[in-house]
Amino acid sequence: VNEFELIRRFFASQPVHRADVIAGIGDDAAIVRVPKDRELVVTTDTLVSGVHFFPDADAATLGHKVLAVNLSDLAAMGADPAWFTLSLTLPAPDTAWLDAFCAGLYALAREYDVQLIGGNTARGPLSLTVEAHGFVPPGAALRRGGARAGDAIYVTGTLGDAGMALAQRLQRIALLPAETAEVTRRLDRPSPRVRAGVAARGIASAAIDISDGLMADLGHLAEASGVGARIGLESLPLSPAYRAHRERLGWDVALTAGEDYELCFTVPPERVSALERAVAAFDCTVTRIGDITEQPGVRVLDARGARHRVAAAGYDHFQNS
Ligand code: ADP
Ligand code: MG
Repeated sequence: VNEFELIRRFFASQPVHRADVIAGIGDDAAIVRVPKDRELVVTTDTLVSGVHFFPDADAATLGHKVLAVNLSDLAAMGADPAWFTLSLTLPAPDTAWLDAFCAGLYALAREYDVQLIGGNTARGPLSLTVEAHGFVPPGAALRRGGARAGDAIYVTGTLGDAGMALAQRLQRIALLPAETAEVTRRLDRPSPRVRAGVAARGIASAAIDISDGLMADLGHLAEASGVGARIGLESLPLSPAYRAHRERLGWDVALTAGEDYELCFTVPPERVSALERAVAAFDCTVTRIGDITEQPGVRVLDARGARHRVAAAGYDHFQNS
């Protein structure tokens, strides 16, 4: 297939059709209608072969993941997703690969009613970029910088499962088949916490998504807010698979491994009861893990209140090789 046939076959007809798309794929650019009473939230993320995923990674997994990581960023802002673009660089026009990629991509797009409105296609080393767009009421976006001393810190879902899956793949730990399936799904098909982010609007004082590990990302939130954080090891939400191997894994996989795509957010004391009511609209669990402090830095305390020293920080593309 040539470039134009490829675009027509895989991207020109796609399953989501929103009324606010005036012109989608097929012109030089897309035309969309932003509601009058909304702000537009924009984010982009790239996945590069050999950097973000193994070169033989499953195409359907990549289709899901490249959209999921962007929806996770929108979720962390409290935005309702609307549209996305896709820039694909492919070594060859492999139609079987594209069929699987689109199946993974469009299944998630349908789940969140987010429409593919354009993109770019080129030949080269495998690389995937999505730019996603969403809406928030004016001034209502969740920011990293809003946390204040005394706010409660929450995380959605469970932590460390994607890190466990990676450790298993690198043969650093041995898991039962059911455990492997559970944590691999978390690494390969992360669920963006869109409903949680939207429901936390007007309640959370700050939010971030956990892509580089809790320590690193909570550290970014605290720094942006000019505060610190104190969290309890025993409060960390762990999956049954993680708990079964906690002795071997220790706590640091849950604290520092990336790719969980959970949300971490803070809530002022006077809005904790509002949060407790709002979690009915979440499609995931939410756990209070600690408190914001005046003293900068993220401190981790064990069950006896002693300081837990974390071995490694989160992933940094220009530090870790
Ligand atoms: P131009 O050369 O004017 O940039 P292209 O030929 O690259 O246009 O693209 C034609 C149309 O196909 C545009 O609407 C563009 O947004 C869309 N498109 C190209 N590649 C993709 C892709 N990978 N996913 C979605 N839409 C795409
Ligand atoms: Mg053009």
